[in-house]
Amino acid sequence: PVVTRFAPSPTGFLHLGGARTALFNWLFARHHGGEFKLRIEDTDRARSTQPAIEAILDGMRWLGLNWDGEEVYQFARAARHAEVAEELIARGAAYRCYLSTDELKARREAAQAERKPFRLISEWRDRGPDDAPTGEAGVVRLKAPRDGETTIEDAVQGKVTVQNAEIDDFVLLRSDGTPTYMLAVAVDDHDMGVTHCIRGDDHLNNAFRQRVLIDAMGWARMVYAHVPLIHGHDGAKLSKRHGALGIETYRDELGILPEAMINYLLRLGWGHGDDEIISREDAVAWFDLAHVGRSPSRFDIKKLENLNGHYLREADDARLADIVAPDIAAKLGRDLGADDLALLNRAMPELKPRARTLHEIADGALFLFRTRPLAMDEKAAQLIVDAPDGLLGDIALALCALADWTVEAIEEAVRSVSEQRDLKLGKVAQPLRAAMTGTTISPGIFDVLVLLGRDETLARLDDASH
Ligand code: GLU
Repeated sequence: PVVTRFAPSPTGFLHLGGARTALFNWLFARHHGGEFKLRIEDTDRARSTQPAIEAILDGMRWLGLNWDGEEVYQFARAARHAEVAEELIARGAAYRCYLSTDELKARREAAQAERKPFRLISEWRDRGPDDAPTGEAGVVRLKAPRDGETTIEDAVQGKVTVQNAEIDDFVLLRSDGTPTYMLAVAVDDHDMGVTHCIRGDDHLNNAFRQRVLIDAMGWARMVYAHVPLIHGHDGAKLSKRHGALGIETYRDELGILPEAMINYLLRLGWGHGDDEIISREDAVAWFDLAHVGRSPSRFDIKKLENLNGHYLREADDARLADIVAPDIAAKLGRDLGADDLALLNRAMPELKPRARTLHEIADGALFLFRTRPLAMDEKAAQLIVDAPDGLLGDIALALCALADWTVEAIEEAVRSVSEQRDLKLGKVAQPLRAAMTGTTISPGIFDVLVLLGRDETLARLDDASH
């Protein structure tokens, strides 16, 4: 059975690249009916924080990337990591090294002076434990193979080979007994039964070391898939401004729906023909590693917003109303009551086609809830000043007389006023919109009137006529 994992370090928030890694692992596991596991790599005690852990879990839940079983906390497994290091020593695949930091530094500097790549050859590799200096713990190093080569058949990068001479005797356990990242990852992946490791290609170099370690333990190998990183729109590394933000920023500040985020992340580095809109179900049905791209993908906020616009139009009205209500309340400075929510719901079919973000929906809805007399923006105020004398009053009279308060009836009434005055419909609709919304942009004006209702419409017309 397929087992994948997402293994974030909680030293920062869940950013775009991490979210995409999580998504690919999730999709691969779901596609194969396998398991997707979450491991919090909190071994860097100084830099790991609880808020970062919460932000990661929260972001995963928001995206609907449910993980199987409890999340694993790496730091809690330190004793197990140390146990494996001891076992590697017992197997002759690792050794205790007592070179001092000063000695290591001197050797590194000597190599630098000769402009040679530094590769540590520790004499402790071949010395027995009897020679060990008393009172010193030393570090545990892997006995990396000296000859031959290590090849990884990466599911994305293809065949990648390194000479074993390039793999150093890296540290497994520090002198204080704590495991290194390299050891912890290999042990945890094995213990969690991981079969496929999908992650950023900045980890490709680590894969060779982890492979050597896994082989030394005689454990089952796993499939690696190293996915190219995400670059900014200009091709440069992702900056804070575009994309290196926490995933919650896309939700809270940019007003993105999770399904749009998922679709966007999926297309960022994976393709299915020319399909741009791909539902979660189709993604699960179609996802494979063969179609992960080999070159870095570029982050494009406009594309994300366009996708979001699509998903807003598809989304359920009541759900959207629930999401934007707090935003509207904050902008109005008051809570929305049950009637307000019902109105917001009814307005949603007119609001959502015009928006690309949830904030645009909220902004577009404000006119419904503003208190009279409406504050007017500059353009709206000018339209009302410029309106022909008595026009708004004539409209009010025509609307007063209507038997039905429907789009059709209202349209007919407004049209007849424009015909009587020999004005184009637009010349009448503009000041009317200004009077109704205090702005010059809104859904169709007849829909606006239906939504506001007759009393509110007449009251706003009356305000604007004085
Ligand atoms: N914890 C590592 C990171 O956040 C990932 C380790 C891995 O996927 O093997 O970059």
